[in-house]
Amino acid sequence: MTPSSFAAIGLSSPLLLAIEEKGYTTPTPIQLKAIPAVLAGKDMMAAAQTGTGKTAAFTLPLLQRLAEGPTVKNNHIRALILAPTRELAVQVAKNVTDYGKHLSLKSTVVYGGAKINPQMMKLRGGIDVLVATPGRLLDLFGKNAVKFAQVETLILDEADRMLDLGFSEDIRKILAQLPRKRQNLLFSATFSDDIRKLTTNLLKNPVQIEVSPRNSAANNVKQYIYEVDKSKKSALLSHLIRNKDLGQVLVFVRTKNGADRLVSELKRDKISAAAIHGDRSQNQRTRTLADFKDYKIQILVATDVAARGIDINELPQVINFDLPKVAEDYIHRIGRTGRAGAQGEGISLVSADEVKLLSGIETLLGQLLTREIETGFVPAHNVPLTKLTKARAKKPKKPKKYRQEASKPGGDQKSSGNKPQRNDKPARAGKQQKISRARGKQNRNRNEAVAKKRSSPKASRNSRNN
Ligand code: AMP
Repeated sequence: MTPSSFAAIGLSSPLLLAIEEKGYTTPTPIQLKAIPAVLAGKDMMAAAQTGTGKTAAFTLPLLQRLAEGPTVKNNHIRALILAPTRELAVQVAKNVTDYGKHLSLKSTVVYGGAKINPQMMKLRGGIDVLVATPGRLLDLFGKNAVKFAQVETLILDEADRMLDLGFSEDIRKILAQLPRKRQNLLFSATFSDDIRKLTTNLLKNPVQIEVSPRNSAANNVKQYIYEVDKSKKSALLSHLIRNKDLGQVLVFVRTKNGADRLVSELKRDKISAAAIHGDRSQNQRTRTLADFKDYKIQILVATDVAARGIDINELPQVINFDLPKVAEDYIHRIGRTGRAGAQGEGISLVSADEVKLLSGIETLLGQLLTREIETGFVPAHNVPLTKLTKARAKKPKKPKKYRQEASKPGGDQKSSGNKPQRNDKPARAGKQQKISRARGKQNRNRNEAVAKKRSSPKASRNSRNN
C-alpha cells in the first residue's frame, strides 16, 4: 500500500513506491507545503534546517516534473542543485538516486577535490539532475563539459552556508550562464541580509515557506549547557558519555587540532571515537562516517564545515565541546539531532571565556539555555549569567580556521580566493554580561547540593579535583 498522504499532495506512483521503500508514511510539514508548490512550477524560498525533510521536499517534485519533460542532450543538464560542501552534495545525490529509482532519469554529482576527468565523462551523455558544488561546476563549465541551455530548474541548498563559504561570486557567475526562464528554489537554515539580497534578484514571486521560526533551532531538541572549566571539558565529556548513557554522540569542536586532541583523550579513556575534519582525505571521512553509522564508533568528533549536512538518522545527541564563534552555526549543529520529528538533545560545554558566545546564541534563539553543573565538575571560573537582549550588534570575525577549512577537501577546491561573504549578524553579546548572582530570573537548573558546594570555596576546590 502506498502512503496515501503523499499521494494526496500529487506525487506519482513511481515516487510513491520509492517513498514507501524508504519507509516514510507521512509527509513532514515542509514536504506538505513545498511539494504542491514545486509541482505547480512555482519559485520557492524556504527557511528550513537540515532534519526537516527538506531534501525530499524539493527532490520528489523535481523528479516528477523532469520525468514529464524532454530528453536531455549530450553534455546538457536539466536541473542543477548547488550545495556548499561535497558531503552535502553526495548526500543530496543519494536522495535523488533513491527517490528516482523507479524513473529513468540520469543523475550525478560533481565536487572539488576529486579528479575532474571522470566527472567530465559522466556528463558526456547529458544528465537530468546534476548536484554540484559551485567551484567545480564552474571548472567543468570552463572546460565545456557541462552546458546550461536546457536547465529548467535551479535549486540552491543550504544557501546561507554557500555564502558563508565564500561562494557568492561563483553563484553569481553560474546564474549569469543559466537560461532566464527557469524555476528557482532556495533553501536556507537562516536568512541573513545577504541571502535576502540574493533572493530578490533570483526568485520570481516565490512561495515562502518557513517550517520553524526564523533563526530558531528545532524545537523537539532539548537544549542545555554544562558550566565547566575549560581544562575539565574533556574529562566532563568522558564522564557524561559513561554515566549518562549517551549512546552515539556527534561532538562539535572549533578546530581541526582540537578535534584530533579530543579523539586522543577519549581514546585514552577507552571510548571509541574518530574525527572528521578538513585535513582528512575524502576516503577517510567517508569511512569514518560509515563506521559511525554502523555503530563501530560511538563518538564522532567534527568541525562545523566537515559536519555540514551530514545525514545521520535518529542521532539522539549533539554535544558542543566548544561553542561556535558564529551564533548561527549553533543552529546548524543542533540541526543534526531531533531530525524528522525524533527527540534529541543538544548539550553545550561552556567555560567562562565563552560567555559572550553563549549570550549571542541565546539572543539568536530568543531563549536562555538551561544551565547545569555536574557534581565533581564545579567550575572554578563561573560562567557569568546572561540575559536576553533585543539589540543586534557588530558581526564577529569569521574564525580563521574555519575559513581555511572551506578550501580543504570538505569544501570546494575552487572556492579559494573568495572571501567569505559573512552576513550573519549574531546578536549582541555585550554589556549584559555583568555577573549578578542576585538575578534570580534565569532558569538555572542547578543541582542544589552542587550549588551549596559552590558557595563554599573549599568544597568547590575539593570537588574540582575529582
Ligand atoms: P533532510 O532534512 O532532508 O536532511 O532529511 C532528514 C532526514 O529525514 C533524512 O534522513 C530523511 O531520510 C528523513 N525523512 C525525510 N522525509 C521523511 C518523512 N516524510 N518521514 C520520515 N523521514 C523522512
